[in-house]
Amino acid sequence: MEHKTMCNAMEMQNDYADSFGCRTFTGNVMLQYLAADVFESLQETIHKGKPLDPAIANSVADAMKDWALSQGCTHYTHWFQPLTGTTAEKHDAFLEPDSTGGVIAKFSGSMLIRGEPDASSFPSGGIRDTWEARGYTAWDATSPAFILPNEKGGTLCIPTAFVSWTGEALDKKAPLLRSIDIINKHAMRILKIFGTDQGVNCVNTTLGLEQEYFLVDEEFVANRPDLMICGRTLIGAMPPKGHQLDDHYFGKIPERVLAFMDDAERQLCELGIPIKTRHNEVAPGQYEIAPTFEKANVAADHQLLTMQILRVKAREHGFICLMHEKPFAGVNGSGKHNNWSISTDAGVNLLYPGKEPQDNLRFLTFICAVMRAVDLHAGLLRASVASAANDHRLGANEAPPAIMSIYFGEMLSDVLDQVESGESRDSRKGGTLDLGSSTMPKLNRHSGDRNRTSPFAFTGNKFEFRAVGSTSTIAWPNTILNTIIAESLDYIATSLETTLAGSDSAEHRDTEVRKLLQEIVKNHRRVVFDGDNYSQEWHDEAAARGLPNLRTTPEALPLLTSEASLALFKNYNVLNNRELNARGEVLTEKYITQVKIEARTLLQMLSTQVLPAALRYQLELSQVVATSKEASIVCHRTAGRLHDIAELADSLQASIETVSLAESFECDDVAEHAREISTSLLPAMLRARDVSDHLELLVAEDLWPFPSYADMLLYR
Ligand code: ADP
Ligand code: MG
Repeated sequence: MEHKTMCNAMEMQNDYADSFGCRTFTGNVMLQYLAADVFESLQETIHKGKPLDPAIANSVADAMKDWALSQGCTHYTHWFQPLTGTTAEKHDAFLEPDSTGGVIAKFSGSMLIRGEPDASSFPSGGIRDTWEARGYTAWDATSPAFILPNEKGGTLCIPTAFVSWTGEALDKKAPLLRSIDIINKHAMRILKIFGTDQGVNCVNTTLGLEQEYFLVDEEFVANRPDLMICGRTLIGAMPPKGHQLDDHYFGKIPERVLAFMDDAERQLCELGIPIKTRHNEVAPGQYEIAPTFEKANVAADHQLLTMQILRVKAREHGFICLMHEKPFAGVNGSGKHNNWSISTDAGVNLLYPGKEPQDNLRFLTFICAVMRAVDLHAGLLRASVASAANDHRLGANEAPPAIMSIYFGEMLSDVLDQVESGESRDSRKGGTLDLGSSTMPKLNRHSGDRNRTSPFAFTGNKFEFRAVGSTSTIAWPNTILNTIIAESLDYIATSLETTLAGSDSAEHRDTEVRKLLQEIVKNHRRVVFDGDNYSQEWHDEAAARGLPNLRTTPEALPLLTSEASLALFKNYNVLNNRELNARGEVLTEKYITQVKIEARTLLQMLSTQVLPAALRYQLELSQVVATSKEASIVCHRTAGRLHDIAELADSLQASIETVSLAESFECDDVAEHAREISTSLLPAMLRARDVSDHLELLVAEDLWPFPSYADMLLYR
């Protein structure tokens, strides 16, 4: 794009952001601080995927420093995503000593491009040890630098990838960037086959991420060790009212919550995050925030920032923002719906079906590539969202199930019928809806219904991967998604390039494409399911179709490092075997550690708070029974209650012993250890919870040591 046109476009885009105060090194800020040739060169990298010219680094660094200082910043940091599941930052002041014994502000190109944090203190799955600690952070110019303000000034944050001295990725960004490259490469081959690659510099994956979360008053959380330490309740009886009345979803947002949302959104807008949507979610106390989609890499960074800002702002409003996938048993859990698509750099969405999808062979090719990928790698896809927390959603009777399947909807399924049978007819249209009132407009209707139960749903012009958990660092599932889809695009491109070699007849091409897609639909359609994914019938049907149902993380994670997965990621240069094995190990260890922390928290709560409360109540009741007897008052029912409490207190002690025993299990083989945790420790914790929840419904409220579910969820 010409410099002037781009400047105009940016100025328009920035008007809105400027009304909030812009804290990103983008658009107008760049124009103001960068020389025209440096600006142009940087834009080539950001928008067209051209290699970064190292010669511009000093100028960019200088400009960033001047801008940051003008905004009151004192420090900069390389901001990265280690395998911990959160972000990391080490701050350095812009200060350098000068030759006269004073100090000057300095930030050079080399400081911008490369940082050098100690790599041994982050999880590396054995790639780095304390005696081989060197690691590097490397500037990702395609994701905007931003300023996080603080009371005294602020910090310039530079998005970076984090790699070991050996060059192996120790983070989630590097593999994501590699997977984006590989999708680009093979999608471009498909465009070329259809003769639609002219003028296209690159194909981008796009992401729009819907974040669900709960808000709980800080004072309640302060009295719940489980929420403080684990982010979820380990005990807690069901409140009289949950979401049976369906009166929370899209309900009126409470004033206090709205004030928090406004504040958080304002800061997110300042950071260039295009927050669009907010609403009450299904469960009481549950909400959602969603931005407009962006290029995947930027969206991934923005999503991490969104979680961070929500957490910080919630505290300022007296809330704790719970991102956990299942903070409360028996009420809806939280996901992070991952809306995924691919488009050219000119903005043409390759998953847009057009008016006649049955004739839109390029669209059908991309759709079939996704279908083939999900069918061939369903287990891997399930593993991409595996965590102890997400198991409470995927493995339980909640949305969506652990069986990976695709929802296409009526229109596309009809088109697939046509592809499979080789016949072509007009596709189904949505038509219009007449609301029956003369003053109301007629509504254009979508060609298909919605299915909220599917883990992977086609929603008009994108796929919505709904199995992703609310705490997920989305770079990871998308790295896997991109890689498996790139493999299918490669398969399709290679087949067609071979059969079409030497021919430039469009007719011949279309015949060959139809033939290939027919074969793909025949072989992989079993992964498509449009019905109710919660139903037992689907579970039975999926088993008959041979689709994997990996209910727990220890069942799913081994798929990550199977021979086939290792070969796949290595072939496409996304992760070498060591890098992938390291991730498998880190995730398995994290699973074990998380559940063990939960078990120890539970034990402490039960032993030092629940049991004493139960025993005190038992004592009170026994005094009542004793004094009643003395006064010859008949109180069979009170005596019965005393009996119940005594029995429950006793079985609570037995449960504590069982949990304690299961928690102490040790094993050198991490996979074996994880399996034992899921088959022994977690069920023991559930049984203990059951006893405690029974007690909660019987013990006098003034003796019960914790805020109830009703306190935390219903009163606001
Ligand atoms: P819903 O799925 O609830 O109907 P929307 O249609 O608004 O909601 O989309 C949800 C998310 O999907 C938003 O973040 C939106 O920006 C994103 N989205 C829309 N189009 C695309 C696309 N082409 N690629 C990626 N995400 C998209
Ligand atoms: Mg959605």
